[in-house]
Amino acid sequence: MSITRYLLASDLDGTLIPLERSAQHLRDVAELVTAFATSANLVLAYVTGRHLSLAQEGISELGLPSPDWFVCDVGTSVYRKTNRGYEPDEAYREAMRNAFGGLSGRDVRAAIGAIEGLELQEEQKQGEFKVSYYTAGRPEAFEATVQSRLDEAKAKVKLVSSYDPVAKRGLLDLLPAGVAKDFAVRYLHDHTGIDEEHLIYAGDSGNDRAAMLTGYRVIVVGNADAALKRDLAAESMARGIDERLYFATHPYARGVLEGLRHFGLLK
Ligand SMILES: [Mg+2]
Repeated sequence: MSITRYLLASDLDGTLIPLERSAQHLRDVAELVTAFATSANLVLAYVTGRHLSLAQEGISELGLPSPDWFVCDVGTSVYRKTNRGYEPDEAYREAMRNAFGGLSGRDVRAAIGAIEGLELQEEQKQGEFKVSYYTAGRPEAFEATVQSRLDEAKAKVKLVSSYDPVAKRGLLDLLPAGVAKDFAVRYLHDHTGIDEEHLIYAGDSGNDRAAMLTGYRVIVVGNADAALKRDLAAESMARGIDERLYFATHPYARGVLEGLRHFGLLK
């Protein structure tokens, strides 16, 4: 007899990891951890923008369990748990290299070279298939130059620009074309063989959006931005998958727990 397995693929910051470390939020995390420990048929994946070492640091700070899979660097790296620790999934690396047009992050960096006002972020923020820069001022101003150098190298890259108003500098991420968290979650889905209806994705922000509209069961934690919630409600309705999205009333870990109960994973 086979036992139904569930996959919980969850974002970390703002979802399992509370943005404010209040005593209540930390108690909620502890309660969720206990609930995880009692469900033997749960496969766990953390899906994060963080690099592996920072993701591991984050979960150990909060006492979250070691997952079966880590999806790091906004979906550009997948690590599986082995008895030697976490190892990069080779098939996924191959998929990323193909998506980058046959290049690695290192090759992409070399292709871009030096551009005035563009500065590589710290080494721990770089991934094998993710290159991240700081820009002096708004990042959009650099896109055309960066793009033309990428085109010369035949790199297939998606540019993701954002702006940090506090530090007053731009952030420019270069990812393999077509790759984001949803790409990685689909890979886990194919790889684990867990049915779509038993795959639950939990998240809180814009970089979870695509994964939330793929058709899996979804938990939108209560602290998610109101505009994102409205957008997800409308878009899931348009796609006929609105019943698969659960908008939790509670924030962070408590919201995830609420959603897991809603989907019948936990009592
Ligand atoms: Mg988040």
